[in-house]
Amino acid sequence: MYGFSMPQLLEKKYRQVFSKIKTKNIIAQKTERKICLLLLVIPFVSSIVFFGQNVQNESQNLPLKSAFVIQNLRGDITNTWLSWDLVEGRVLQIQIVNDAYVSAEKISAIKNSIDSTETVEIDDSILHKGLSGSSVYYKGWKGAVRKAAQTDTKYYIPTEFEFVDSKKGQADITIILTSLRNSDGYTGYTTAITDENHILRASITIYEADRLSEVELGTITRHEFGHVLGLAHSTAPEDLMAPIIQTAYPFISDCDIDTLSALYDGSKESGIVCKK
Ligand SMILES: [Zn+2]
Repeated sequence: MYGFSMPQLLEKKYRQVFSKIKTKNIIAQKTERKICLLLLVIPFVSSIVFFGQNVQNESQNLPLKSAFVIQNLRGDITNTWLSWDLVEGRVLQIQIVNDAYVSAEKISAIKNSIDSTETVEIDDSILHKGLSGSSVYYKGWKGAVRKAAQTDTKYYIPTEFEFVDSKKGQADITIILTSLRNSDGYTGYTTAITDENHILRASITIYEADRLSEVELGTITRHEFGHVLGLAHSTAPEDLMAPIIQTAYPFISDCDIDTLSALYDGSKESGIVCKK
């Protein structure tokens, strides 16, 4: 006599097979869960590594804080936004007063942020400008103002800059590098002196300049020079002209360039509103 009838045997076999499948499924589910977790963790970790590296490569202690004032010849602070009004081709003279005694390499970084025509292409998705495509940014104002000057404007957009020796008398623009600390925590501070209609001269002070890296000095100068040209702050936090510079890509955007063209065409609005 067999212990089991045929149907019972079949059922036993079925249970054995089924239990194996079930075990395999549990293992598979666990593995699947592990993969899912990894997929979640990998981009997170790599983004930390990526941004960490990025900031490290740029050696930038963000954010950098900036302020500016517009002062008329009577010494009153005004809120009127003005441009320069120079004859075409007039060269703006810039004098760097190196009271903090920063290195020649750092002085070059400051000069490049004004005098460079170099561009950089950045994915729009990184700067919240869209999901696809990329945009061109300028590393120095010389390239940016040349682009802005392609638009016909009422006033001449300054496109020529020259760095002069301090012994040659007062320059149009003075950049003072000081080791002093600003009591309000500003890294950069720009003052524009104006008559009723236009900017006559401007002065940038960079605080604790001896403690800033080459990249930081370039970034804060690039921002302050935007004020020197007449730009106010940007509403977009990722823009170079944001009051607190917190972007890892502090370069001159199309939005800054368009605002500059409008300002030199007589617009009284120099605040930057960046459209996405
Ligand atoms: Zn500013």
